Amino acid sequence: MNNIYLDNAATTPMFPEVCELMFKSMHTTFGNPSSTHSFGRKAKAAVESARKSIAKHLGGTTSEFVFTSGGTEAINLILNNAVYHLGVKHIITSKIEHHAVLYTVQALEEKGVKVSYVDVLNNGTLCMEHLENILEQHSTNTLISLMHVNNEIGTILDLKKVIAFKKKYKTLFHTDTVQSIGHFKINLSILDIDFLTASAHKFHGPKGVGFAFFRKGTAIQPQVLGGEQERGTRAGTENVAAIVGMEKALSISLQNLEQDLCYLKQLKSYFIKQIKADIPQVLFNGVSDNLTKSSHTIVNVLFPKTLSMLLFQLDLKGISVSGGSACQSGSHKGSHVLQTFLSDNNQEKTSVRFSFSTLNTKENIKDTLSVLRHLI
Ligand code: PLP
Repeated sequence: MNNIYLDNAATTPMFPEVCELMFKSMHTTFGNPSSTHSFGRKAKAAVESARKSIAKHLGGTTSEFVFTSGGTEAINLILNNAVYHLGVKHIITSKIEHHAVLYTVQALEEKGVKVSYVDVLNNGTLCMEHLENILEQHSTNTLISLMHVNNEIGTILDLKKVIAFKKKYKTLFHTDTVQSIGHFKINLSILDIDFLTASAHKFHGPKGVGFAFFRKGTAIQPQVLGGEQERGTRAGTENVAAIVGMEKALSISLQNLEQDLCYLKQLKSYFIKQIKADIPQVLFNGVSDNLTKSSHTIVNVLFPKTLSMLLFQLDLKGISVSGGSACQSGSHKGSHVLQTFLSDNNQEKTSVRFSFSTLNTKENIKDTLSVLRHLI
């Protein structure tokens, strides 16, 4: 049996076309985009062409996109900028955000920013009534920062609902779309989102590159100081090949979005049906078995008992999955997301995140489940 990769929420394999283009770019557009000679101009043109295409795909304008080293930097840039340069004094977020948001918000809290956390319901979704209660009490100088798709349990945030609140209470809204860009249709000319953040390696692009979108009128001041790159919003020589690769990965992902979505929904529902047949007491964390409320890329399985070393045993059999968020692998801390809403009893049991991409096949699922059957 070949190795099976079912950890696509941690990172995705790069599309071959992306690798080829990046290789070519390293040779042909190696100039420094800040140089005024022809090599520099060629590299600059490649970066700007990528920006134009990404902006077009997402319904924004080129001046609204800043390239960064990935999701974490983009999130830090947006949240810090909101507080230090846009007058935000209150951030509303949730305990199930990625640590890039949670730790940045905590650091801002230590600087005097008020932080409110939206209640997480027992099914891992956010309580929208509580969000409105918070806004009723305090909405001035407020930023709402809530992720679109949760990286551990796949829950999809109702963006339209949050946008309605943001309009009613006149707040700013940032959404971490690291797990959704390239997998969902997002049109910023329709969705009134002020800031969003993305990372190329989650949609078959290279690691170490991403972007922040900030809507016109919400100007960004740099957190990385130095040169005048990115129109003065983010200093440092651009990673031309990675930016070009990110654009290619996004273009391919969006070009095939509808058929990929359909394919992955089928794959995920097949997985759910089969695992339920194999292990009747199996449960799913959050609403990750609900194909409309959770992403087609993620399912988080709660096994009926503690299966120590399950991930290790799966790995030995060539199956790569994750026990929570991959960003925690190597640490002994449990998942902060599952801790937020699972009962103590269920936290004792083993949870595994299986996350899919279009490069996975039904055969991969069959083989994984046949290995699981022997281990449980
Ligand atoms: N936000 C979410 C939801 C993520 O899943 C991740 C990465 O796992 C990040 C942010 C951080 O992105 P990056 O790895 O590009 O720094």
